[in-house]
Amino acid sequence: MSAPAPPPLAAITGYHAHVYFDPLTKAAAAALRAEIERRFPVEMGRWWDRPIGPHPEPMYQVAFGTAEFPRLVPWLMLNRGELTILVHPSTGDDRADHADYPMWLGRALTLRLAFFDELEAARAAAPKKPTPEAPA
Ligand code: ZN
Repeated sequence: MSAPAPPPLAAITGYHAHVYFDPLTKAAAAALRAEIERRFPVEMGRWWDRPIGPHPEPMYQVAFGTAEFPRLVPWLMLNRGELTILVHPSTGDDRADHADYPMWLGRALTLRLAFFDELEAARAAAPKKPTPEAPA
């Protein structure tokens, strides 16, 4: 069985960086967040103080464009401290973006990929109803 061909580079419309934290690292995550906002043209997501979607630990999301990748990601490499950060592309395939194309800065976490199956099942069961948005 061979894997399906990956999408072309042009399929990447942007990226997310998910910055994970716990009660002990929340202050460091807040300091990093302030610096990111000060330095980079990004779209900051809200704080999630509990696991949400495929994310197994509390986090906030940083959305950024492809042009920002070569500035922001190296900066995160040097400045993340003890924090774990997931960087994934947005190709239009949320599951693959997380399951197949992720990049981890620091300790890799095990994502709750079953979330995408549950989402798929919910959409199949109720195609007319909007699905509650959860950050992926
Ligand atoms: Zn994401």
